[in-house]
Amino acid sequence: MKIYNHENQMLHHPQSYFSRGKMRQPQEKPERLTELLKAPEALNLKIMMADEIGIAPILAVHDLGYVNFLKNAYSEWIAVDEDMGEEVQTTIYMPNNNDGLGILAKAAKYQADGSAPIGEHSWTSIYWSAQTALNAAEALLNDADHQNSNENKVQICLTRPAGHHARKSAAGGFCYLNNAAIIAEHLRQKFQKIAIIDTDMHHGQGIQELFYDRNDVLYTSVHGSPINFYPVVAGHEHERGVGAGYGYNINFPMPHGTDESGFFHYVDQSIDALKLFDPDVIVHVLGFDVYKDDPQAKCHVSTEGFKILAEKIQAINKPVIVLVEGGYCIEKLNENLQAFLSGFTAERTIDND
Ligand SMILES: [Zn+2]
Repeated sequence: MKIYNHENQMLHHPQSYFSRGKMRQPQEKPERLTELLKAPEALNLKIMMADEIGIAPILAVHDLGYVNFLKNAYSEWIAVDEDMGEEVQTTIYMPNNNDGLGILAKAAKYQADGSAPIGEHSWTSIYWSAQTALNAAEALLNDADHQNSNENKVQICLTRPAGHHARKSAAGGFCYLNNAAIIAEHLRQKFQKIAIIDTDMHHGQGIQELFYDRNDVLYTSVHGSPINFYPVVAGHEHERGVGAGYGYNINFPMPHGTDESGFFHYVDQSIDALKLFDPDVIVHVLGFDVYKDDPQAKCHVSTEGFKILAEKIQAINKPVIVLVEGGYCIEKLNENLQAFLSGFTAERTIDND
């Protein structure tokens, strides 16, 4: 097992966000990563510092104008006048506007909702979150002779900010660059079929949109019903893909209040669909916001449940890259990640025997 992090991911520090008609205190805070990092340490597992892979794999998925916006938005924002807020945030949503007419027009074009503020150091963290994820993809791409196939079988990326809500050219839902899509696309250089399984509390509509017409990347998601729940505009069962991609987008929206056995009922169906696809690599978008006491939870997964989830992913017996994304019950992130990691290490010990 490999575990990746980069310290630059701590720099992004949102001050507020706007959701459901209220200005709110951020849940996506640097302390989340501090807590996550305690888990491998407690289990005596090594954490690798991610190397820089570069901007090219990011631009293979996202528009150049959008990436430039993420990079330069803050400096352009504070240069407008002294009345600007401390973070780039829009109250105007107009994706088709001309982005050449000022930072407010750019924000209206590239921020899809009020929950993706951009501060002074956000881009550094956003970029290094993608780099952290890309390290796992690179390890598989560079292992042509399978010399390291055992240690590359399970790779865990502690990524912050998360990615699955990010669109080709828009930020939203605490997400800026779509790390799962970036590594899936990057892996396609060598691997024919990539499956993304998303078990975050929220539907990853950014991933769905990016691969909606494709049959080389399967997207399957278990999430809270999007009726009156983020991302609101996508995540229903009837969204199955288009053209060649029809049937390669599989959503399992859970009724709000689903218990743990209900969650695993949907996870099992999601894994069954994934096995039929027979992918070369699995990308698992893991959200700890399905945890029963998480402020975002609409289902009731226990700490022990994350161990079971890891065992189920391991049992598919394919190389897996796990992206740790949502999870806002900060005081439980360490314990919940330990439970998840122990699901893999238990299996690994048996293998080694
Ligand atoms: Zn989430």
